Amino acid sequence: DRLKEGLSKTKKNFTERVENLLKAFKQVDDELFDELEEVLVLSDVGVKTSQKIIENLKEKVKMNKISDSQAVKELLKEEMFNIINLPNKLRERYPLIILMVGVNGVGKTTSIGKIANLLKSNGKKVIIAAADTFRAAAIDQLEIWAKRVGCDIIKHVEGADPAAVVFDGIQAMRARKADVLIVDTAGRLHTKKNLIEELRKIDRVINQQIPEAEKETLLVIDATTGQNGLIQAKEFNQAVNISGIVLTKLDGTAKGGIVVSICDELKIPVKFIGVGEKIDDLQEFDPKEFIDALFE
Ligand code: GDP
Repeated sequence: DRLKEGLSKTKKNFTERVENLLKAFKQVDDELFDELEEVLVLSDVGVKTSQKIIENLKEKVKMNKISDSQAVKELLKEEMFNIINLPNKLRERYPLIILMVGVNGVGKTTSIGKIANLLKSNGKKVIIAAADTFRAAAIDQLEIWAKRVGCDIIKHVEGADPAAVVFDGIQAMRARKADVLIVDTAGRLHTKKNLIEELRKIDRVINQQIPEAEKETLLVIDATTGQNGLIQAKEFNQAVNISGIVLTKLDGTAKGGIVVSICDELKIPVKFIGVGEKIDDLQEFDPKEFIDALFE
């Protein structure tokens, strides 16, 4: 299926190596653990997280007197699952406002379109607010996605006040009885202070205009940027309260272990993963499915 296909590069780089290692080793010893740790790090699981996984593995192997290397694989799956198994459902109370944040190029626009499509196919009425007014191209791209999905878009001209776009989005949401408002925001982390100000202002408008709304703030991260994506996430998380991660372009990387690293270091759940460029190439993240697809 799409998930397995999307993970094919990671399966080659990570899973195959793990399996070859386990086959090659006749007994479970420190050398095996060292090599396993290296495979984890090379798949972007991150040094700290990899060490933690290996420590836990060692302990369990010792405790359960495991000598079969295949049993180690099952324990590894379990360790990875335990880390990524955070509560990761998108809120299901409405009206719901989803703020989308993330630097340019990570796949924010595409993900907005895909999430709108997913919600719409679940019977929700969705409106998109083009509050990244910094680039005209961003507004145009978003409009193309809104047409493709078949949902309304609220936009102003380039350079307009993002909070004003959100204000109009909320009025439209009320008037048209929409369930979800997805808000695109500017992706300029290098002007962090401005970005924080902008997001705070948007927050104020939401709290004033529609205090009863549920809120999600989703950070979009490009999986192909590996540990850099994690650094970005940490910076964003200092600025705003991130409720979930959208991890894009998993299909384009052999280092899908970044999922584990993100969940472990940030303790923020991955809520969606992107596994391709098409409209239905976005999935709700399911930790069990993910581990199964990875190791199958
Ligand atoms: P933005 O600048 O963050 O809004 O990024 P865009 O949404 O314009 O996406 C940048 C590029 O990444 C586009 O070519 C998208 O088609 C591509 N893209 C987005 N998500 C995915 C994904 O999950 N997989 C792949 N392969 N490409 C993606």
